[in-house]
Amino acid sequence: MEKLSFMYDMIESELRDAVGYDNVGTDPDELLSYGTDYYWIARMWMDKGQEPPKGRFLVRPGSTEDVSKVLKIANYYRIPVHTWGGGSGSQGGALPLAGGILLDMKRMDRLIEIDDESHSITAEAGMIFQRLEWYANERGMSVNHIPSCLTCGTIGGALAHRGIGITSTKYGKIDDQCMSLEVVLPDGTIIDTLPVPKHAAGPDLNQIFIGSEGTLGIITKATFRMVPLPETRLFRAFLFSDFATGLAACREIVQTVKPSVLRLFDQAETQSIIKNVIGFDKPGSFMNLVCEGRKAMAEEEMKVVLDICSRYDAMDCGSEYGEKWYENRITFFYPGHIMNNPQMFGTMDTCARYSDILPIYEAMKKEVEKFDGVRFIAHCSHWYDWGTMIYDRFIMDNPPEDPHEALMLHNRIWNDAVRAAMAHGGVINDHHGIGLKLSRLMKEQYGPAMKVMEALKHGLDPNGIMNPYKLGL
Ligand SMILES: Cc1cc2nc3c(=O)[nH]c(=O)nc-3n(C[C@H](O)[C@H](O)[C@H](O)COP(=O)(O)OP(=O)(O)OC[C@H]3O[C@@H](n4cnc5c(N)ncnc54)[C@H](O)[C@@H]3O)c2cc1C
Repeated sequence: MEKLSFMYDMIESELRDAVGYDNVGTDPDELLSYGTDYYWIARMWMDKGQEPPKGRFLVRPGSTEDVSKVLKIANYYRIPVHTWGGGSGSQGGALPLAGGILLDMKRMDRLIEIDDESHSITAEAGMIFQRLEWYANERGMSVNHIPSCLTCGTIGGALAHRGIGITSTKYGKIDDQCMSLEVVLPDGTIIDTLPVPKHAAGPDLNQIFIGSEGTLGIITKATFRMVPLPETRLFRAFLFSDFATGLAACREIVQTVKPSVLRLFDQAETQSIIKNVIGFDKPGSFMNLVCEGRKAMAEEEMKVVLDICSRYDAMDCGSEYGEKWYENRITFFYPGHIMNNPQMFGTMDTCARYSDILPIYEAMKKEVEKFDGVRFIAHCSHWYDWGTMIYDRFIMDNPPEDPHEALMLHNRIWNDAVRAAMAHGGVINDHHGIGLKLSRLMKEQYGPAMKVMEALKHGLDPNGIMNPYKLGL
């Protein structure tokens, strides 16, 4: 929205008054560093020297009250607010597309409380998740949200994208771990969701804000449950003749026992990433898992796993490659192993019921491979009683040089593959979120049910200032 330049000065002066003079920046070079997260388009755009999206004011709140004051100012002047955690999101969720305020939450990183009796921990939402985990570890506990972005993502970012970590199959997703939230609503009102989840006092307010990507409010504090660190961890790896056989075996495992880690790789990923990172070099579908907890129970679970895998004629590769995978659990995603510009790539991250998963895998693979020079690899890394997710990626080594053409092609691949998933019963995202990347497909995914989200958005944010163009809102 166009404003007289002295009005920008007025807003700047109000923001400095609200959060402290030095906690507001307007330096274009500093704002430039918030022009890209881990979204391929944004990174490509920046690489090619294009003008990235830029906020006008960089604001660093130090408390919930600061956030409240900033939102009141933003609402009065009708200027957009884009909340920024670690900036590690892959969906363009934090990009300041509409200018205005870039609210960097990382000053809000205090530990608030550990309740040893209830096994819960509370912290401010700008804390990097690794620190929260370290505080829990000091008590012999774990929050068990161990994503590959553990060291670069914040509590708020994980909640806003409904993230997931490697031990999710046993311990659940961030929404299972989160007990309650403090949120600042778009008009500046500070609210607490109730102190415990799973109550019957109406719908669970946590679940309105978890996954809402900064479009309905700003999460300022969160309480998580903790569980004791495991007494033992047993590692194992197997090789299946093909992905479909591996899927059937893993489904049976998950519907019988609960490994913490369970990853199944298709043949293409076994022969590329698994071979390159952990040196396992055999054709087939590689699977690795961890059973953990009390020693006797973990051993019993592993016996069940061995029995199931032998019935599916899997090759038992012992503990060595299971341990190697675990040692490299984060390395997989860092330079040297992960795809990187100038390659074009996308992680499509689809989830579905077991009965739909194989047709989805095949349909997406077909859609991706119809594009010249584009390859498809996939693994399943998070398992539920009812289904799983496919972490499927397309990779193009030599994308078009021209940024406009590259963007067009990137989005065509996404549209075709994601629509194929939806046509076969898939949901467009398991844990990376929607952001800008999938925003255009939200209405197709939800149909008339999108009205519920639009009503929440209009009710809570009538001026539409919160993270515009994200989440299809
Ligand atoms: C190498 C790598 C590995 C990854 N591995 C995983 C993984 O294993 N599991 C996984 O789930 N994701 C993974 N991701 C994706 C990403 O890191 C996660 O989505 C992460 O949780 C984002 O956190 P962030 O603090 O960086 O959020 P940002 O990127 O800063 O923001 C993400 C979204 O959250 C909103 N937001 C941020 N803070 C708040 C707040 N306090 N209140 C309201 N909204 C807020 C932003 O506006 C934006 O919409 C990975 C990314 C990378 C680069």
